[in-house]
Amino acid sequence: MAASIIQLLPDHVANQIAAGEVVQRPASVVKELLENAVDAKASDIKLIVKEAGKTLVQVIDNGLGMNTTDARLCFERHATSKIRQAEDLFNLHTKGFRGEALASIAAIAHVELKTKQDQEELGNHIVIEGSKLITQEAAVLPKGTSFAVKNLFFNIPARRNFLKSETVEFRHVMDEFQRVAMAHPSIAFGLIHNGSELYNLPSSNYRQRIVNIFGGKTNEKLVPVSEETELINITGFVGKPEFAKKGRGEQFFFVNDRYIKSAYLHHAIMNAYEGLLKEGNQPSYFLYLQVPPHTIDINIHPTKTEIKFDDEHSLYAILRSAVKHSLGQFNVAPVLDFERDSNLDTPYQYKDKVANFPTIQVDSRFNPFACEKSSNALNTFGSYKKETATQNWESLYVGLKQDTQEIESFSFESEEVTGTLFSEDAVENAPTSTYQIHKKYIVSAIKSGMLVIDQRRAHERVLYEQFLTNITVFKASSQQLLFPLALYFSAEELQLIKELQPVLENTGFVFDAFNVDSVQISGLPILMAESEVSIVLEELINNLQNEIPESSFSQSDSIAKSMAKSMAVKTGTYLTVKEQENLVNSLFACKDPNVSPFQKPTFITLTVEDLDKRFAL
Ligand code: ADP
Ligand code: MG
Repeated sequence: MAASIIQLLPDHVANQIAAGEVVQRPASVVKELLENAVDAKASDIKLIVKEAGKTLVQVIDNGLGMNTTDARLCFERHATSKIRQAEDLFNLHTKGFRGEALASIAAIAHVELKTKQDQEELGNHIVIEGSKLITQEAAVLPKGTSFAVKNLFFNIPARRNFLKSETVEFRHVMDEFQRVAMAHPSIAFGLIHNGSELYNLPSSNYRQRIVNIFGGKTNEKLVPVSEETELINITGFVGKPEFAKKGRGEQFFFVNDRYIKSAYLHHAIMNAYEGLLKEGNQPSYFLYLQVPPHTIDINIHPTKTEIKFDDEHSLYAILRSAVKHSLGQFNVAPVLDFERDSNLDTPYQYKDKVANFPTIQVDSRFNPFACEKSSNALNTFGSYKKETATQNWESLYVGLKQDTQEIESFSFESEEVTGTLFSEDAVENAPTSTYQIHKKYIVSAIKSGMLVIDQRRAHERVLYEQFLTNITVFKASSQQLLFPLALYFSAEELQLIKELQPVLENTGFVFDAFNVDSVQISGLPILMAESEVSIVLEELINNLQNEIPESSFSQSDSIAKSMAKSMAVKTGTYLTVKEQENLVNSLFACKDPNVSPFQKPTFITLTVEDLDKRFAL
């Protein structure tokens, strides 16, 4: 008989594997910690986040706290105070019950727990890193619990690298925060990101909580819904149809105070709105359903938000009629005016702006089968470098002449060695040739040797000067979009875009309207593809999120830099010879071709002398 080969995994390995399922990103930690604080009956919960939670997620509550034993036990797998026996699963009144979250989080982060129960003198202070207990000591603490989760995925670099930009991760954090805060309006919630307070929500009712989160304008949009039956109690609000808009609406279902997604119930709502919405528009809804706990199957995956109801069909019918009734009762239908096309409303400040007729730019070189990056590069180069492309190649080196002469004056000794194969004239008169190396550098022969140009940095320089001129000297014209784009951002991000609006408009952006969670854009900078807008703006926000420069010049400078950075052709992009030449031409037409906007060298020269030295070894 062969030896047995099956072994039990050590706890810390098992925990790390399991953690992958519970913790996908910083927002998962936010959700688990907030829910634990709610379960601990806190009346005030603070969420503190740094770098979208990548470096810190901290939740401070004033709830029940834990005694010394529990403070240590809570990090064990399947350690929970919320159920004791299988039957309890059918009568759950808490968010958690698996006892998995803290064990998982502690396996993949640095966790600091401070907790004290009301009746105790001293509390407990525990530090755990990667499931390993570092310290546990008594400490003077306020009542309640604070979990600080630092350096998420510190021991799983692959997961860490998989995280998205700070903007994206932070949006997930905000989503989780909003969902928990909306489900529990009587609890006060606060959110601080990178030191600035984004939300300070006082204890209130459902309506006030929604308005506090989504902005004052939301209030007039809400129509109350209320229905009590044996199967289900429904309260909450639906949005008046005339406020419905394209794209993702504010659509929330809560079942027994837990945010859920349900395509089926969503359908019931859409059905209730039938005939009241313009094609493609989505209504807002904030609906709170209470059902007896035993009629839903909560045994779903911890990170999933789907749910199973016993009697879905009845719920569908009840929900639909409740919403329909509210919409009818509040007489919202007659005020609808489908004829008015909001696309035709010109915002006041653009009344005098000369309209740019949409131009159709056909890129004859566009090949839909070429790799994505390459066609992207074609677009970015194609549209504006046409004038510079015809410039005389030699003229590029005017700026370089001094350098080369200086070098030459030192180098007559080796001069004799050169020129044996090719005369200098031959090199100078040779047809311009550039080579791309490793889809990263462009190499070009010059009189004194060769130039090696970093394509990405060079393009950043070119775009940067272009944007800076547009912003500061003359307003760039914009390409008008046939259909305005609605882009969704958090309150914080929208605020930032608003502050930068005048500068962004100089680059060619045209903003039509700011909504609570989105901005409508009808014009773009000439060089920008429609598909790139959200990425460029997202990166811009990312780059500026921590500080918006005060002076308008440095604002312009930051925006030009940031846009140049996100729109520049990336390392790894193949460039045709023509594109290489255009890029080199444009670079040396710049005021300051030597460095990228971030002060990194854009090119280096290798003189013949340098090469000689290498060969002399
Ligand atoms: P679950 O929430 O499924 O029980 P967790 O791993 O999230 O599992 O938490 C384990 C236990 O730790 C909880 O059951 C609870 O007893 C305790 N606990 C966690 N967070 C808090 C908190 N903020 N205040 C008091 N007790 C807490
Ligand atoms: Mg929990």
